[in-house]
Amino acid sequence: MVKKTVKKAATKKAATKKSAVKKPVSKKVKNTKYVYSFGAGKAEGNGKMKELLGGKGANLAEMSGQLKLPVPPGFTITTEVCTYYWNNKKTYPKTLKADVEANLKKVEKETKKEFGSATNPLLVSVRSGARASMPGMMETILNIGLTEKTIPGMIAKTNNPRFVFDAYRRLIMMYSDVVMEKAAGIEPKDGEGIRKILDGMMAAKKAELKVTDDTQIPAEELQKLCVEFKKTVKKVLGKEFPDNPVEQLWGAIGAVFASWNGKRAIAYRAIENIPNDWGTAVNVQTMVFGNMGETSATGVAFTRNPGNGDSHFYGEYLINAQGEDVVAGIRTPSPMNKWSTNAHSKHLPTLEKVMPKVYKELDAIQKKLEKHFHDMLDIEFTIEHERLWMLQCRVGKRNGIAAVQMALDMVKEKLITKEEAVLRVTPAQLGELLLPAIDPAAEKGAKAIAQGLPAGPGGACGKIVFNSEDAIALQAKNIPAILVREETNPEDIEGMRAAAGILTQRGGMTSHAALVARGWGKCCIVGCGELEIDLNKKTVKMGGKTFKEGDALTLNGTKGYVYEGALKMLGAGEGNKNLTNFLALCDKVRVLKVRANADTEADAIKARKFGAEGIGLFRIEHMFYGQHSETPLFILRKMILAGNEFERKAAVDELFPHMKKEIKATMKAMSGYGVTVRLMDPPLHEFVPALPEKQRDLAEALHISMETFRERAAGLHEVNPMMGHRGIRLGVTYPEITKMQARAIFEAAAELIKEGIKAEPEVMIPLTCDKNEIVTQKALIRAAYDEVVAKTKVKKLKFSVGTMIEIPRAAVLAADMATEADFFSFGTNDLTQMTFGFSRDDIGSFLPEYLKQGILEHDPFQTLDQHGVGRLIQHAVIESREVKPGLKIGICGEHGGDPESVEFCHREGFTYVSCSAFRVPIARLAAAQAAAKDVLAKKKRK
Ligand code: PEP
Ligand code: MG
Repeated sequence: MVKKTVKKAATKKAATKKSAVKKPVSKKVKNTKYVYSFGAGKAEGNGKMKELLGGKGANLAEMSGQLKLPVPPGFTITTEVCTYYWNNKKTYPKTLKADVEANLKKVEKETKKEFGSATNPLLVSVRSGARASMPGMMETILNIGLTEKTIPGMIAKTNNPRFVFDAYRRLIMMYSDVVMEKAAGIEPKDGEGIRKILDGMMAAKKAELKVTDDTQIPAEELQKLCVEFKKTVKKVLGKEFPDNPVEQLWGAIGAVFASWNGKRAIAYRAIENIPNDWGTAVNVQTMVFGNMGETSATGVAFTRNPGNGDSHFYGEYLINAQGEDVVAGIRTPSPMNKWSTNAHSKHLPTLEKVMPKVYKELDAIQKKLEKHFHDMLDIEFTIEHERLWMLQCRVGKRNGIAAVQMALDMVKEKLITKEEAVLRVTPAQLGELLLPAIDPAAEKGAKAIAQGLPAGPGGACGKIVFNSEDAIALQAKNIPAILVREETNPEDIEGMRAAAGILTQRGGMTSHAALVARGWGKCCIVGCGELEIDLNKKTVKMGGKTFKEGDALTLNGTKGYVYEGALKMLGAGEGNKNLTNFLALCDKVRVLKVRANADTEADAIKARKFGAEGIGLFRIEHMFYGQHSETPLFILRKMILAGNEFERKAAVDELFPHMKKEIKATMKAMSGYGVTVRLMDPPLHEFVPALPEKQRDLAEALHISMETFRERAAGLHEVNPMMGHRGIRLGVTYPEITKMQARAIFEAAAELIKEGIKAEPEVMIPLTCDKNEIVTQKALIRAAYDEVVAKTKVKKLKFSVGTMIEIPRAAVLAADMATEADFFSFGTNDLTQMTFGFSRDDIGSFLPEYLKQGILEHDPFQTLDQHGVGRLIQHAVIESREVKPGLKIGICGEHGGDPESVEFCHREGFTYVSCSAFRVPIARLAAAQAAAKDVLAKKKRK
C-alpha cells in the first residue's frame, strides 16, 4: 500500500510539475490522426476528448455529433500537433497538410461553398482551444479567405458590400496584429503596434465622417480604409498582407500554436497552474455572420447567472456585430431577457422581444445543454439572418457565491448528486464567502460616487493605481490596490491578480475584466461609464470629484457601487444561509472529522461557529500569549527561570489556578466535543523577557541578582531553538510541570462534570520519539488523575493519553509507540522541518529557486510533502494500526487546513484533521471532496 500511494503521488507530480522551460516537454506523439471533423449533425470526436481536441473542439464535437445542435461545420487540429510544433522547430507532422486539405474539402461539401472561389467563397475562422479554458489568452482570427478574388463573389452572394468590407478590414486588423506581428516575434514599442495604428486610422475615419459607431461607416469608405490598411501594413511590417487564402489559413494556424507560448498565456498558466506541456488545439470553422444587418446578431450567454447563481438563462447580445464585439466591451450589449437587464442595459430591447423565435430556440438549446452536461454552461452563438448557430459551449466560470447557490439548486433539481455538488465548489470559491465585505453599517451611511456593473462580488478597499505595474508594486508592499482602467485586456492579467479590486470604465458582464475577475472571485466593477480617466495625469474623475493615484476607494463588487475613501470592512460568512446549507451538505459526504487548533475560550467559540467538532490541538503555553493580564506570563517565566525544585514548585502551584481556569473555559465552549490538550512545548528561550525593566522585575521576584538572571537565561539558549530542551524533555527533567498541567486539566474537567457538562480530556504529549518517554509521563498523569478524583470525588472522569508524532524517529517506531498511546496526532510542522532539515523561517531564502528548478513542487510547509514526509506518515499509520486497529489518528500541523493535505489524510485513513478556526469550513469542504471522489470513482468502476 505504501508503494502504491507513493507511486500515485509521483505520477501526480509529473503531471502538475511546472517545467522551467516553457516549451511542451518531449511527449511522444502517439496518435497519427491529427484532424477531427464536426458539423451537420456528425462529429469524429466527442465531449470526452478534451485532452486531444481541447475544451472547445471536444464540445463542438459533442454539440454537433451527440446533441445535433446547429454547429457551423469545421475541424479541430489536435493538441498533439501543438506539442509536435514546439518540439520540432515550429514545424508540423508530414501528413498534416493533406489532412487539413481533405477536411477543408469536407467542409466545402457540407456548406456547398468553396475556399478561395471567386463566385461562392467559403470563409473560415481559426481559434485556439486548450484543455482548460484560458479566456482571451490565445489568438482568434476571423474571416479567413477574403482576398481580392473572393471579395466580389462575397458581395454578389450577400448583396451587402458594407458587410464584406467590414469583414475584410477586421481580417486585416486581426491578421496583421496576430500573425504578421506577434507570431513573427516583432515587438513594437508601447502604443506603436500595428493594431494600435490601424485602430487609430479607424477612429480618424469616424471623426472625419462625424460618426461614433463603426456600423455607421459606409461601404465605400470601408473599402478605402482597407486599401489604406494594407499600405500601412506593408510600410510598418515590411510585408504585403497575404492575398492567398491558403497562405492566410496556415498563417493563422501557426499563430494560434505560437500563441500557446505568448507572454500572457504563460502568465495565465502560471497563475492557474495549467501545465505548459498541454498545448492548444486549433479549430477551423465555417464563418457565420452576426454582422449581416439588423436580422443578425452575436452573443454570449450562461445557462444560469454566473454572478449570483440565480437559475435563469442569462446573457447579452449585440445586433449587427461580429466575434469579439460583445466581450471587447466596445458597445454596451443588450440583455437577453428580463433576467439579464442591469442599470446600463434596462432601456435596451431584449432578444426575447426582438427575435422571439430565435430566442425560443436558444432557450430550448440552453436547457438541453444543461441537462446533458449537468452543469452551468457558458455559450457563444451567432444569428445570421435569423438563423441560430452555436459557436461554443463550455462549463461556465462563476464566482463563489454563484458556485454555492448552483450546487445547492442542482441537488434540489436532482440534476447532480450531493457528491457531485461538493466537487462543484473549489476551496478558493468557498473562501470567497468567507472574504471581507463592506460593513453594512458603514455602507448605509456612505453615498456612492459612481455605479457600474457588479462583475466580481465582495468588498475591496485600497489605493488607486492606473496600471498593472503599480498594482504589483503595491502588492509587494502589502498595500491593497484598486486598479482603475478604461477597460482591461489580457496584458493586464498580472496587475488584475495583484489588485484587491478592479474598476473599469467600459465593458459588460461578459467583458474580459468581468470574466477573469469572476474566475478568481475578485471584487470587480465594470462598465462604470461616468469615469473620466486621465492616464497622463494619473487622475480619475467621478461623482464631480477628481481622484489621484494613491487616493483611497472602496468598491462593493456585489452591487456595483464605488465609494470615496476607506469604508470599514467586515469578515464575511456570518449569517449566510447558503454557506451553512452547503457546509451541511459537505458534512453529509465527508468521512474525516474536522477539529480546530484553538488555545483560548474565544478561539473555541469561533471554532464552533465554523463547525469544528472538537479541538485537535490546545497548546497550553499559548494561553499565556496576549492575555489581558500579564500575571500568568510572569509566573510562567518564574517557573522557567527558577533555580531549584522548590522555587519551581512554588511557581507551578502559583500557575495552576490560571491554567485550570483557561482550560475549563475552553472545554466548556466546546460543549462536550473532544479537547486535546497538549502539554507544554515552549521554546524556553522565547520566554525570557527582552526588555531590561521586565528582566529586573523578574530577577527581583526570583530574589536573584541581574548577573544570576543573565546566567540562567544564557543556560536556556539553544543552538537550534526548534529542537532541544522542550516538549516531553521538560516533563522528564521537571516532572512537577507535567503533574501540575495534568491536575489543571483533570480538575477543570471534574468541575465541568459537576456542572453537568460533558468533559473527557485527551492529554497529548509533544515531541516524543520513544515509547519509554510516554511510559514516564503516563505514570505522572495517572498520579495526578488519582489525586483529582480523590479530591473532587468525580468518579466518572474519563481521559486518554496520546502523543504527537512530529519527529521522524517517532514515525519510524510508530508500532512501538502505539502500544502506549491512545491516539496519535501528526505534528507535521515539526515533522516537515525535521525531515527536510530546514525550517519555515529558513525556506524563504531558497524556495523560489527550488520551485524554479523543479526540485520542489510547492512549499512543503503549506502543502504536505507527499513523498518523504508522506512516506513516514503512511508507514506510521499502517504499522500502528496493525498493533492497534482502531487507533485514533489526526493531524494538527498547519497542513490540516490545506485542501491537498486533507485529501492525503483522507486517503491514508485518518480519523480527523485539525486546523485553525477560520480554515475549518475549507477543511470540511476538502474532506467532503476527498470522500466524494471515492464515491464517484467507485460508481464509475461499476
Ligand atoms: C507541529 O509540530 O506540527 C505542531 C502542531 O506543533 P507546534 O507547531 O506547536 O510545534
Ligand atoms: Mg511541534
